[in-house]
Amino acid sequence: MPKNPRLTPTEPSLFRAEVLRSERVTPSMQRVTVTGADLGEFPWRGYDHWFRLFLRLPHQEEFVLPELSGSRWWEPYLAIPEDVRPHCANYTVAGFRPEVAELDIDFVVHRGPTGEIDGAAAIWACAAEPGDPLALLDQGIVFDCPDDASEVLVVADESGLPATAGVLRSLPPDTVGRVIQEVPVAGDCRDLDAPRGVAVTWVVRGDAAAVPGAAALAELRRHQSVGESGYAFVVGESTLATEARRHLHRAGLAKNRITFSGYWKHEGAKAA
Ligand SMILES: Cc1cc2nc3c(=O)[nH]c(=O)nc-3n(C[C@H](O)[C@H](O)[C@H](O)COP(=O)(O)OP(=O)(O)OC[C@H]3O[C@@H](n4cnc5c(N)ncnc54)[C@H](O)[C@@H]3O)c2cc1C
Repeated sequence: MPKNPRLTPTEPSLFRAEVLRSERVTPSMQRVTVTGADLGEFPWRGYDHWFRLFLRLPHQEEFVLPELSGSRWWEPYLAIPEDVRPHCANYTVAGFRPEVAELDIDFVVHRGPTGEIDGAAAIWACAAEPGDPLALLDQGIVFDCPDDASEVLVVADESGLPATAGVLRSLPPDTVGRVIQEVPVAGDCRDLDAPRGVAVTWVVRGDAAAVPGAAALAELRRHQSVGESGYAFVVGESTLATEARRHLHRAGLAKNRITFSGYWKHEGAKAA
């Protein structure tokens, strides 16, 4: 069963890049493909490999990046004067082609209460033009399946779809398990390159007013629990992550066999 090289770089590298193209791949996902002279050297490990993304905001003329020292990036980042400080958000490698130094980033096109695109990163992605500058700070992999895992369960909302896709693509072909993947609308479902023994259940939220992740959590609660020798990876809205972990642990899965990460927090989200 899974053997994945857990890798969190001790001295993460910063990769400068620029936008090659930006396109809407499904109704709720904007894919930005980026390239850069040194991006071919990005140490991609598959799975949920993620990075911190630095972006120039619309009112900024200069693109100023933090001076990194060892693993420290937060203090140098905050030391940049606010008016020139770039926006920083976390994203997953959605695709990587080292031979042409191209990397894909899939941004959820999330919206505010009146329907307008919300969030500096989502707005940036939808307006991105060829040549726009950006930088990636490599953060490695969080997926941490024990070698003796009998089955793998992945649960995610749409912000975790790039991670789900990366995990499925990277798992050994003999892996068995299940994926519960929530998306806003039916048009966001897409083919995933999954091992034969992994069943994928798409949960289409439909209701634009519903809190993302709640439908995936409800589906998980209907799921016969994973055996105690299994492994679960749960990512997305923070209530999904914490409540799914609670459910799985109560159902018999040890905490060290559950990786959970709140990718973002819904303002006003209540435990479902
Ligand atoms: C390890 C990791 C990997 C991630 N990978 C991806 C990825 O590949 N693709 C991706 O789209 N996201 C990913 N995320 C989540 C992403 O970092 C957050 O959604 C982030 O808040 C987006 O930044 P923003 O600037 O667009 O919005 P922000 O300025 O951070 O937030 C603005 C408002 O939007 C709300 N919001 C933020 N994200 C969402 C959302 N997805 N749906 C609905 N409302 C939202 C916030 O609650 C806030 O009210 C990842 C997070 C982590 C921790």
